[in-house]
Amino acid sequence: MKVTFPHLGSMYIFCKAMAETAGIPYVLPRPTSNRTRETGEYSTNESVCLPLKIILGNFVDALDQGADTIVMVGSGPPCRLGLYDRIIKVVLTDMGYSFRWLTIPGIFNWQALLQNREEAKVLRKELTLGNYFRFPWAVIMGWKKMMWCEQLERTAAGMRAVAGDPVEVDRLLTKGLDAIDKAQGVTSLSEAGNAAVASLGDVKKTGRPPLKVLMVGEVYTVMEPSINMDVERRLGHLGVVVHRSSYFSTHIRRGSRLDRRMLKERQRLLQMARPYLNYDVGAECNFSVAEAVLGSRQGYDGVVHVYPFSCMPETNAATVLSVVSEDLDIPVLPVVIDRQDMGLRIDTQLEAFVDIMTWRRQGHII
Ligand code: SF4
Repeated sequence: MKVTFPHLGSMYIFCKAMAETAGIPYVLPRPTSNRTRETGEYSTNESVCLPLKIILGNFVDALDQGADTIVMVGSGPPCRLGLYDRIIKVVLTDMGYSFRWLTIPGIFNWQALLQNREEAKVLRKELTLGNYFRFPWAVIMGWKKMMWCEQLERTAAGMRAVAGDPVEVDRLLTKGLDAIDKAQGVTSLSEAGNAAVASLGDVKKTGRPPLKVLMVGEVYTVMEPSINMDVERRLGHLGVVVHRSSYFSTHIRRGSRLDRRMLKERQRLLQMARPYLNYDVGAECNFSVAEAVLGSRQGYDGVVHVYPFSCMPETNAATVLSVVSEDLDIPVLPVVIDRQDMGLRIDTQLEAFVDIMTWRRQGHII
């Protein structure tokens, strides 16, 4: 058995850590590139969500490298993520691949457990007692690595905006993530994590006050830099601290509904979006709106809303956010990702947005 999983920001470090600690062989797809996107586009039609195409491209790459078991997260309606497993299974089968599929439920309930029962029966025969025995520790190790990755990414987002040389921050982030990925055991992990965070703290600063932006939107687009045109890094180089609305752990905590604090937080955010949306539209729509409201109260200079073209929940959010922007006097930049490479257009959009926020800070009325 060789499991595989799609790319989503630094999530691969979490998945690798789990597979390695539990002793389960795995295949890591190559990093997402234009080729990945083209593979997914070639085998689907244009109305399909962009994340589905890219995830499909990741799976084709992994199956070509010898993977035979696909692990994928699920979700409930109305977001189309809940249908990804069915669609991707059909497409891959039509392409001639044979594989097993395991859906990690978005919400842990009875339906979710029943969904995988056939595959789980087959997999049980292939897993050894050692795999079962090590699995709880594998989850802990994966989670710890994910926490370090997120702390490092947050620190880098803060430092990039004030660093004399933001490219140095990018280099240290890549180096730190690599060290976290390679760490074996808890002690070496905390050494690697602490060293990486400290190295970012040592970067020379300019002393200029940074702008503060909240990045909200569709989870996959927010978290995967190769898809969102690296908005976070580009803004950082323009002197903007980007606070991301979702990290992988946020999604797990919110989706699983097992974390009480997160459940309360979820309710609070839904309540905050209520003046604009009085029902749950699905996926991150209500959260995008609520976080923009929260951002305006917390003194952010602006909101960047990233989402794939044709994403139903976030297209709704975009319309609502234009009203929020006017009501609460906070600039909102919609960044719609489509199949075309945006090239320099994204830089022009971001530079104009930064100019607007800077002028507002200086007291000019816009
Ligand atoms: S949130 Fe949007 S892009 Fe993401 S799976 Fe759902 S519909 Fe597709």
